[in-house]
Amino acid sequence: APRVGVLALQGDVREHTRVLAELGADVVPVRRPEELAKVQGLVLPGGESSVIDKLARAFGMQEPIRSAIAEGMPVYGTCAGLILLADRLADGIAGQQTFGGLDVTVRRNAFGGQVESFETELSVPAVGEPPVRATFIRAPVVEEVGPAAEAIAALPDGRVVGVRQGAVIGLSFHPELDAETRFHELFLASVQDA
Ligand code: GLN
Repeated sequence: APRVGVLALQGDVREHTRVLAELGADVVPVRRPEELAKVQGLVLPGGESSVIDKLARAFGMQEPIRSAIAEGMPVYGTCAGLILLADRLADGIAGQQTFGGLDVTVRRNAFGGQVESFETELSVPAVGEPPVRATFIRAPVVEEVGPAAEAIAALPDGRVVGVRQGAVIGLSFHPELDAETRFHELFLASVQDA
């Protein structure tokens, strides 16, 4: 079984871990560089990106994760995880940093105001039929997709909510909270290929 990690500094680590284990992966929490060195792929959970960023720097994880992404390790991020994978933030809080890996500009809390959370169905060719049930919670949106990245999911109004660049996948929504395993399967397939 592929050995994969979930970055376990903050966020919905347990939900991602459960899905990956159900799909047959050997899944471990990753908090330290020694733990990262032992996995073949990494999931960045949903949560609060500014907190994960601060903790990652405090735990000495920023550079190891950046290097792993640069070396081609498959990485899959949801919501806060997408924010952490963005090469550019439209509106990070002061001093907020990202790992990068996706040639995109992401805006945090893009659906703010009254309606902070919603569910919808998305048609996503990369995973096929049936449509994806997508849960958005204080979700980010991809404002600009650079030439190295590819949009894989969009809302009906055209706003991009899923991106892929090589073995890096980022989504605005939370498949780990729904009975939606196909993106985790794409991630595990990238791990097998790598
Ligand atoms: N708004 C959060 C952030 O900026 C993301 C929310 C989520 O992961 N559900 O990190």
